[in-house]
Amino acid sequence: KMHNELQELKGNIRVYCRVRPFLPGVKQKQSTVEYIGENGEIVVVNPSKQGKEARRSFKFNKIYGPTATQAEVFADTQPLIQSVLDGYNVCILAYGQTGSGKTYTMTGPDGASEAEWGVNYRALNDLFRISQTTTQPNGLAVPDASIHPVSKTSDVLDLMSIGLKNRARGATALNERSSRSHSVVSIHARGTDLKGNSSIRSSLHLVDLAGSERVDRSEVTGDRLKEAQHINKSLSALGDVIFALAQKNAHVPYRNSKLTQVLQSSLVYSPNSTSENKKNEKLMRNKSCSLNTGGQAKTLMFVQLNPDIGSATESISTLKFAERVS
Ligand code: ADP
Ligand code: MG
Repeated sequence: KMHNELQELKGNIRVYCRVRPFLPGVKQKQSTVEYIGENGEIVVVNPSKQGKEARRSFKFNKIYGPTATQAEVFADTQPLIQSVLDGYNVCILAYGQTGSGKTYTMTGPDGASEAEWGVNYRALNDLFRISQTTTQPNGLAVPDASIHPVSKTSDVLDLMSIGLKNRARGATALNERSSRSHSVVSIHARGTDLKGNSSIRSSLHLVDLAGSERVDRSEVTGDRLKEAQHINKSLSALGDVIFALAQKNAHVPYRNSKLTQVLQSSLVYSPNSTSENKKNEKLMRNKSCSLNTGGQAKTLMFVQLNPDIGSATESISTLKFAERVS
């Protein structure tokens, strides 16, 4: 069973849904999440809708309720980190409205203790640990960062703590900015096989997306409206790309946004796709210059929910987005 589960987790596109808890000090209201099943089912209620729309059920690969720990979430993410060292290009994204826990899942809360570390820290820790303690046939020996060369976890932690300090200094401005921008951490790994000949390259993209909330046209104007439209456009372009991949369509519309172009190398077809896709895969490979992708990629999307009943409409639109790509 363990083996099957690992195989399943090592598939190509998966969606995990995470519901954050009500925050301390905030009066606990009714939750929009009515039910979370062991089988990956989540039922969401929306009191502002009637009929079929008032209560909707969705299914994903995993659902994490408000009490799920960072360690529990990472346990199900870990196989993908191993995949990076197996030569796969891996993309892990967090999608959801502002305040739903995207940054918490990817990075952790401000000043996180080790137990609160998010996927970013744990993934990096693992990359170094695995690459140093195992000798895999054709595996990677020395992971490297794209801009700052690093050789051990503490190098990365040093870099990240500089980032965290900067972040704490401008906390308010950053919250504003972070909800309106995508944050992408890219790790490029390369290595040689034991004979020292063929070189393997792979990448890991860790993406904390801009808030997916719909901005009310009546409330923003000018640059702010343009920005909001731009974010919506890039998120829907991302949805279109992942949807095309999930459907194994021959045409994948990477060109429609900067975001999908940046992530292109880690959003390509699996090796066991159809022959038509293989042709396309080869085409993609020729186009992407910086990475020897081998056309093997895996994607994980965290779909984040705020449990507040007042967020029901946003939550359902988030879940619909995720349902389309899963
Ligand atoms: P986003 O990045 O989607 O805007 P945040 O990650 O900043 O949202 O989360 C909003 C708030 O909720 C933060 O104060 C964060 O620490 C808290 N939070 C989010 N998820 C959790 C969780 N699983 N457990 C405890 N607190 C959480
Ligand atoms: Mg955030």
